[in-house]
Amino acid sequence: MRVAVIDKDRCQPKKCSLECIKYCPRVRGGVKAIEILENEEKPTISEELCVGCGICIHKCPFKAIHIENLAEELKEDLVHQYGKNGFRLFRLPLPRKGKVVGLLGENGIGKTTSLQILSGKLKPNLGRIDEEPTWDDIIEEWRGTEFAEFFKKIAGGKLKISYKPQYVDKLSYYKGKVKDFIEEIGVEGNGLEEIWNRKMSEISGGELQKIAITVAMEREADIYFFDEPSSYLDIKNRLEMGKKIRELANDKMVVVVEHDLAVLDFLADIIHILYGKKGVYGVVAGAKTARHGINLYLSGYLKEENVRFGEEIKFEKHPPRQLKEQEILISFEGLKKKYNGFELQIESGEIYKGEVVGVVGPNGIGKTTFVKMLAGIIEPTEGKVDAKVKVSYKPQYIKAGEGTVRELFEVNKKKFHMLYDKEVLLPLGIKDLFDRELNSLSGGELQTVAVAFCLSMEADIYLIDEPSAYLDAKQRMKIAKVIKRIMEKEAKAALVVEHDVYFIDMVSQALMVFSGEPGKKGIGRGPFSLREGMNLFLKDLGITFRRDEDTNRPRVNKIGSTLDRQQKSIGEYYYEL
Ligand code: ADP
Ligand code: ADP
Ligand code: SF4
Ligand code: SF4
Repeated sequence: MRVAVIDKDRCQPKKCSLECIKYCPRVRGGVKAIEILENEEKPTISEELCVGCGICIHKCPFKAIHIENLAEELKEDLVHQYGKNGFRLFRLPLPRKGKVVGLLGENGIGKTTSLQILSGKLKPNLGRIDEEPTWDDIIEEWRGTEFAEFFKKIAGGKLKISYKPQYVDKLSYYKGKVKDFIEEIGVEGNGLEEIWNRKMSEISGGELQKIAITVAMEREADIYFFDEPSSYLDIKNRLEMGKKIRELANDKMVVVVEHDLAVLDFLADIIHILYGKKGVYGVVAGAKTARHGINLYLSGYLKEENVRFGEEIKFEKHPPRQLKEQEILISFEGLKKKYNGFELQIESGEIYKGEVVGVVGPNGIGKTTFVKMLAGIIEPTEGKVDAKVKVSYKPQYIKAGEGTVRELFEVNKKKFHMLYDKEVLLPLGIKDLFDRELNSLSGGELQTVAVAFCLSMEADIYLIDEPSAYLDAKQRMKIAKVIKRIMEKEAKAALVVEHDVYFIDMVSQALMVFSGEPGKKGIGRGPFSLREGMNLFLKDLGITFRRDEDTNRPRVNKIGSTLDRQQKSIGEYYYEL
């Protein structure tokens, strides 16, 4: 089966010379395998007439065309196609009462499309784009399976749905206070008391996320969908959220998309991996247990389906931080910062050349304030930062400016270091985005551009605040690698504020730990070795991790379990002995 997809965001017939049509050997032979149809601006490929030679793919200057040959048997499993030459989704995950079903896969592979179909927001067309099927056709298609029953209920409006969308930033456009928003929706808003009277436009991303999750949970429904519930939440909140979602699933159906693998592992009973080619097609693989599903995903190979979909991702037990050979880049002594109502105290510490320091702690505890003091953006009330260093900063919330990605990088070229092209743009695939308008990028693409821009700058310290938001698990690992390499090669240092434990584990050689009372008092300590830092941090949270036997990846222990108690008694919260 041939699948031809033209990416409408990339295809720009006004800026090219229609190379795709000009060089097509079928068109030259008089067969209209690719043409611009009447009343349309962009070309259409006829999947029947195209022979899949691939010439148009290479000739298109904007890499807008993808052609894939798929196994014939998938044809019967086509669930939805976004128009002619559009993305295709094959198979679906089945929601089950009493279970949390997790979807795991890279961005652009069909997770949100799956959620939209299962929630009745999008009627699946089974690939019949000329004549849309009726609900009866759809139910007939799944006859004899549990999906037939499921879609009967959806078609008849018999399933009550609650949906937490992916992007919560948009909630900040709401004019009014938190309580107005909650009252307007008609739920109780339990747990939101502290921010009740704050304006929606003035609260943090983590708080917006909490509101969105609370609203979705309190709605009376049969099936609940959560699209990326952990973005902007700190670890404590992620695990609390996970616990509540699990409780919700006692007698309901719950489906979750989540890229923080430690959280997904904790949250899901069943996992469906989605594989395929991003933006072109996605296939929902069969149900696996959470542990097995995540291990398979990390292995990059689906045994049953015999599909390789990526490199293996490995976790290692960390060596101690080697202090002696390293040169100090910056040191700080007894820093204090006082704001009205908030007080931050930083113990003395040193950051070495070539290292990545993970920064962990709850939201509102002073991490950003510390980072800004290092950067010289704000003056400490007491204490001093030794050495003037140049800082490149990626803030937590990023806004897309005007212009294309290419313009952003060309205009600022003079500020970049020598390695930016080879070590940053290339591995992160930024050049593939060059012709896109910044404001047309998805959340994940924009995040990648922002991190790449920060890492391209000539600087001494790179301060990267929550780089993982909206990135899929694979992109997270890729970014972790790039950050590490740049620091090693350039002998610079990075401070990475993160809540994803796997990301922290991959990227950092040392850890700074912030604790205290969010919004009131914060204490920052370290950098420590990863082991020492994790013990301090997790002790504060009362959480322990064990290591997975097969992959070495950290897994959250159930509180009060034998391992949890054992590890706590010997003070090893992250590394079992
Ligand atoms: P994921 O949630 O895994 O990131 P999505 O389900 O959002 O993936 O999207 C999969 C692909 O489907 C995207 O790459 C995009 O090209 C395409 N797509 C999504 N929504 C639409 C739409 N409304 N019209 C056309 N194509 C779409
Ligand atoms: P984190 O990065 O850990 O989430 P921040 O450093 O951003 O925390 O903020 C810590 C506390 O300091 C918060 O309570 C915040 O409201 C307060 N704060 C931050 N910047 C200012 C400022 N310019 N004026 C007053 N208070 C501030
Ligand atoms: Fe031009 Fe490429 Fe679009 Fe063809 S597919 S019209 S070559 S941008
Ligand atoms: Fe023409 Fe070959 Fe492109 Fe098909 S793959 S449209 S035959 S150039």
